[in-house]
Amino acid sequence: MRILISACLLGEPCRYDGLSRPLPDETLDRLMHEHTLIPVCPEQLGGLPTPRTPSERQGGRVVMRDGKDVTAAYERGAQIACALAMQTGAEAAILKARSPSCGSGKIYDGTFSGTLTDGDGVTAAAVKQLGIPVYTEETIPF
Ligand code: SF4
Repeated sequence: MRILISACLLGEPCRYDGLSRPLPDETLDRLMHEHTLIPVCPEQLGGLPTPRTPSERQGGRVVMRDGKDVTAAYERGAQIACALAMQTGAEAAILKARSPSCGSGKIYDGTFSGTLTDGDGVTAAAVKQLGIPVYTEETIPF
C-alpha cells in the first residue's frame, strides 16, 4: 500500500521545535518493509521555517502563538501534500496526532492552553476530502 506519512514520524526534525517524533523502531521497520511511504511535512511545504513559533487553528484561520496569521502557508502546504498524494496514488495516510496541519479528529483548540477540541488539521481535512482515509500514529490499522 502507498501511504502518505508525516515526515516527523519518520524521524525528520521538521517540527516547530526542530525535533521529530519518530515511530517506534519495530513499527517503522514493519511499515517500511510492507508498504511504500511518502513523507510530507505540510508546514515546511507551505514555506514555514524550522524551528517556528507554534500555531493552532482558530476556526477557519491558523495563527501563531504571537498572533501572526499563517493560514495561507497552512493551506499551501495542504495543497502540495494533496497533490503528492494524488500523484503517487496514496491509498491511506498516517498523520501526526493533534497537529494543526496533520491532526485527525482531535486538535488543540486555539487557546494555546493545551486544550483539545474535535477537529482536523488543515492537511488532514484536505486529504480526507480526497477520499483517502487518515490515521494517526495512535490508530495505525496495518
Ligand atoms: Fe509533523 Fe505534520 Fe507538523 Fe510537519 S506539519 S512537523 S509532518 S505534524
